[in-house]
Amino acid sequence: MTARVIDGKAFAARLRDRIADHAHAFEERAGRKAGLAVVLVGEDPASEVYVRSKARATVEAGMASFEFKLPADAAEAELLDRIAKLNADPAVDGILVQLPLPRHMNEDKVIAAIDPNKDVDGFHVVNAGRLAVGQHGFVPCTPLGCLMLLKDQLGSLEGLDAVVIGRSNIVGKPMAALLTRENATVTLAHSRTKDLPDVVRRADIVVAAVGRPGMVRGSWIKPGAIVLDVGINRVEGEGGKTRLVGDVAYDEAKEVAGAITPVPGGVGPMTIAVLLRNTVVSAYRREGLDLPKDAI
Ligand code: NDP
Repeated sequence: MTARVIDGKAFAARLRDRIADHAHAFEERAGRKAGLAVVLVGEDPASEVYVRSKARATVEAGMASFEFKLPADAAEAELLDRIAKLNADPAVDGILVQLPLPRHMNEDKVIAAIDPNKDVDGFHVVNAGRLAVGQHGFVPCTPLGCLMLLKDQLGSLEGLDAVVIGRSNIVGKPMAALLTRENATVTLAHSRTKDLPDVVRRADIVVAAVGRPGMVRGSWIKPGAIVLDVGINRVEGEGGKTRLVGDVAYDEAKEVAGAITPVPGGVGPMTIAVLLRNTVVSAYRREGLDLPKDAI
């Protein structure tokens, strides 16, 4: 059996079109555009690329993009002051501080300074708490994007066995919470898990978010399982060129799985699309307008 390849790029493009419609409708009703502010500290080239593509996608979706750059040696107080201004700015519905921050800044303190109701990345402890107890809040973009892909493939996740590999605050833990909310039976695996191949072999749904190229082998996959590969790893390919690979040994796993996301072009494109979704949802909430049904 060869797995269906889940085209995250096409799914994300359709989601972005829907978000653009909602952003347009929001502007007509509220008399202003939904707005996303992105703050970048320092000159990390990868972060600069992310920030630029987020800003471009925001504008393409018919929303306002506000970008702020602080030098790498900026004082933490300067960043906190910028966040306080954005918290108070009625034109800003979403605030994103690009991580990682320079070493002299405390990430927890910076994230805690963001108004939880503008925290479209879903990293604030208030939003993590809301997800844990089942209240409305913002859910981190990558796991929410994974959930959307899973529901598109499977419809209901009820009663399915899911294994999430990796327990970070931005991917693994919120992914496990979302799957639990959907009535899957969830195992959250990590570096101390015993007999990981056996644990993964039980799963109808596998989400790999580890950061180790090709760690999950084809022989670990239950035939017909759905495999989502969150990993983004740069490895040296032919001729010394770097290429991106996931955490799953794709060529092996696709011979066993029922469906699988490729890297690149699987989970990756979902992240920005969900960021736009969270921003437009924030805008509707902040203006007290009814949310579009398909934005949930
Ligand atoms: P972290 O480094 O924060 O977490 C990695 C997790 O993997 C940890 O929980 C760790 O366990 C676990 N782990 C490490 N080694 C093993 C092992 N041998 N067996 C089982 N578990 C192991 O990573 P992130 O969650 O931030 O990211 C994971 C991957 O996803 C990365 O490749 C990253 O680039 C990618 N990513 C992609 C995104 C996107 O598509 N847009 C967004 C975010 C991340 P322990 O807790 O025990 O140390």
